Amino acid sequence: MTVFGKACLESVNRHCLPKTVKQWHPCFVDLESRMTTAVLPNLDPALIPISEKVRNGKRLSLDDGHVLYETKDLWTVLELAKMVRDRMHPGVAYYNINRHLNYTNICALSCKFCEFARKKGDDGEYTRDIEYIKEEGRKAVESGATEMHIVGGLSPYLPFEYYTDMLKALTEVAPNVHLKAFTAVELVHLARIAKVYKKDDIKSGVRWVLERLMEAGLGSLPGGGAEVFDERVHKEAFKTKIGAHEWLDVHLVAHELGLNTNCTMLYGHVDKREERLRHMEILRRSQDQALHRLGYEGDAEGYIAKGVPESEEITAPVITLTGEGATLPTPSMSSKGGYYQTITPLPFFPDGSELEHLSGPAGVENLRTIAVTRLMLDNFPHVKAFWIMQSLSMAQVMLEAGADDIDGTVVWYDITKAVGEGTHQETTERDLIVAINEAGYEAVERDTLYRRVERDGSEWRVL
Ligand code: SF4
Repeated sequence: MTVFGKACLESVNRHCLPKTVKQWHPCFVDLESRMTTAVLPNLDPALIPISEKVRNGKRLSLDDGHVLYETKDLWTVLELAKMVRDRMHPGVAYYNINRHLNYTNICALSCKFCEFARKKGDDGEYTRDIEYIKEEGRKAVESGATEMHIVGGLSPYLPFEYYTDMLKALTEVAPNVHLKAFTAVELVHLARIAKVYKKDDIKSGVRWVLERLMEAGLGSLPGGGAEVFDERVHKEAFKTKIGAHEWLDVHLVAHELGLNTNCTMLYGHVDKREERLRHMEILRRSQDQALHRLGYEGDAEGYIAKGVPESEEITAPVITLTGEGATLPTPSMSSKGGYYQTITPLPFFPDGSELEHLSGPAGVENLRTIAVTRLMLDNFPHVKAFWIMQSLSMAQVMLEAGADDIDGTVVWYDITKAVGEGTHQETTERDLIVAINEAGYEAVERDTLYRRVERDGSEWRVL
């Protein structure tokens, strides 16, 4: 009977399932009933109370997350994540048409997991000038891209004006293209080179930087650089990079200024599963704060955040978006502030990094991590299976395990990459649509802010 678990992963239309199956399937009845019928001998009883919480849109605890990570009953974990994902985004999965720009690979830091950064004079180091960047903007327009995703190293050789000039130049040649740019660590670096950085008050310097970047055309923030929020992991793998507090402060200021942001979790290096779960807990408390600012009412019943010191500072009530009828935040709410749109779990690829001796996570761990992320991050509207790092085939399967977005056409991406794929990666819109349709969902082109995009020849508009 465990074969039925696989059937669940094949995007079966549930209304086609026979009545006898519906009687014990977790999406239709509670798991306790299934246990008593003994039709699923591999069902883990520890998942019964978790299933109840998930079905009722209640927040899962770190202990629940631990069970989801450790249980041998992977199929039920995936199915629960799929149930949540289908409730939040019935029948659809998202992609976008985008272009990536890495403006420099020169970086003052040396994170152990990074194979992208170079020092000045190293083979392959580069810094793009404004003419090059303008040309990239023109190419983005020609290719019909709705977004440019812009990130780079922390170059000590570029002045603050380079960044505002970059955004202004792109706004000039590509006025309709959304500029999603600069991770938290880059923004702290910008505060330093603009000489507005204060160690005991990071927020004021970052606010100064963001206000100027927004004037120049910044539309939202990507989510990179979060890695795994944990002191031990930070010390071992990226100790010179900003830590959790600074990363969260940058995103808090961005939200206060009305910018939507995103976040990532680079896992499978020196981190442990419990550290990933704490990372998720910190992020969802940060999102509680953002949603509370937008006017969402909270529900703290039955949930206490434990063992996560960083979240003690966050005083917002618990807000979940996974229950029946929950309203997801929209860009129109951003007059009151921004919020996290998407969490993207990123598997670590050791090749070429200082952590090459590690193996990195494989398919099943990646699939489970997507599902656990969907279930734990109950107030994040979207979970992305980033095909560049997961592979398009795996991203497609992940749509059945909690993900609702596979990112975009992505022309050129060399910050992180799938093994053996080279640094220049792109796929066609058609490939993305086929992957999504095969998984049983309508493929919806979105812009950066998750608005539907409608196209008429080379023209496009958001709905
Ligand atoms: S991960 Fe980012 S900050 Fe760290 S070395 Fe690489 S480019 Fe620099």
